[in-house]
Amino acid sequence: MDKRRKQRVVVVGGGIAGVHVAKALESEASVSLIDPKDYLEIPYGALRNTVEPSFAERSIVPYSEFLTQVELVQSAAVSVSSSPAQVSTSTGRKLPYDFLVISTGSHAKGAPTRRDRIQEILADHERLKGASSILVVGGGPVGVELAGEIVTDFPEKSVSLVQGGPRLIEFLGPSASTKALNWLTSKSVRVLLKERITSSASPPIFTTESGKQIPADTHFVCTGSRPSSSWLKGTFLEDSLDGNGRLRVDSALLVSGTRNVFACGDITDLKEIKQGFLAEKHAKVVAANIRKLTNDADCGDLRCYCPLERAMGLVSLGRHAGVAQLPFGTFVGWIPGLVKSRDLFVGKTRKGLGLRS
Ligand SMILES: Cc1cc2nc3c(=O)[nH]c(=O)nc-3n(C[C@H](O)[C@H](O)[C@H](O)COP(=O)(O)OP(=O)(O)OC[C@H]3O[C@@H](n4cnc5c(N)ncnc54)[C@H](O)[C@@H]3O)c2cc1C
Repeated sequence: MDKRRKQRVVVVGGGIAGVHVAKALESEASVSLIDPKDYLEIPYGALRNTVEPSFAERSIVPYSEFLTQVELVQSAAVSVSSSPAQVSTSTGRKLPYDFLVISTGSHAKGAPTRRDRIQEILADHERLKGASSILVVGGGPVGVELAGEIVTDFPEKSVSLVQGGPRLIEFLGPSASTKALNWLTSKSVRVLLKERITSSASPPIFTTESGKQIPADTHFVCTGSRPSSSWLKGTFLEDSLDGNGRLRVDSALLVSGTRNVFACGDITDLKEIKQGFLAEKHAKVVAANIRKLTNDADCGDLRCYCPLERAMGLVSLGRHAGVAQLPFGTFVGWIPGLVKSRDLFVGKTRKGLGLRS
């Protein structure tokens, strides 16, 4: 490695994890960020956008607004090699790296430009406004937060939520699930657990596996997402993928078997819940370790990341309420709502990236 020139850091994936690594290193390394989109959509705010499209003005931010010293490569990574050390993109670019950071998470979809994404949001909003009955498919955090947003802003609409598993928000404990269920049913949401939609007919009636019928003018699919790691198949990193398509990392967040390839965020196999506040912590460790290796530290001197042992999380329930699972208890109502639900951490995230909140 030639230490006289700036080290080339290629970050693949500009979600919460990737942008924080790029931001931390932009002034001291030559950083390139590869992502098919030209913007960060702050994920915590995504569902408020559907009920209040103007919210997207703050929650969808062009990378160029805060990554001013980063080379932005609007493309998907399609392959990577170690010798030569380079990443290939769908537009035919080959980006050499001294350090590679993989943060392709699990949200590969989304319009390529901010303007197109805002058009998608406006279309979803019109669809929502024009419907008197709505079906939400999926009772994870996304489905529950969306149902909460809709019943808060449009209490006159009839909302049903279908969840395949036995409880809602299964990434948290049973107490949080029950509290979320009780809150939704208190707002007249019809929640069907252990059910799957098998068919829809016209006029729109959805039928579940057990034959229950749900009339709905429109529906939103909020089922789980998969790690975005298929582009690593057939590369030298394929053997570092676990059975779920996540990258195995050591305590320094180096991808197993490598000395200059890091991973952070939802793509890692760390045994903890997949959350943005943890992705930010990973990003800090990765940036610190790249700095140390640039300054000739040994792999043994690297900073270690300790996975979160007990699941902790905060799911918003519309603008004023939420359900929080904390180390000392699980709470529902306006107190958790005060922490997250008004602004959905958008101001805090913007500030962390050096933007006005
Ligand atoms: C509605 C909602 C609410 C949430 N609320 C909270 C919360 O309150 N608190 C919390 O801590 N967490 C929350 N989370 C979870 C949190 O958002 C995720 O854990 C976090 O976004 C993960 O970030 P990431 O950067 O690892 O991955 P992602 O956000 O998935 O980003 C991955 C990026 O990689 C890009 N990409 C994918 N494939 C390629 C490729 N081949 N080449 C180049 N780029 C690629 C994608 O375009 C994307 O930009 C919430 C999630 C959702 C959906």
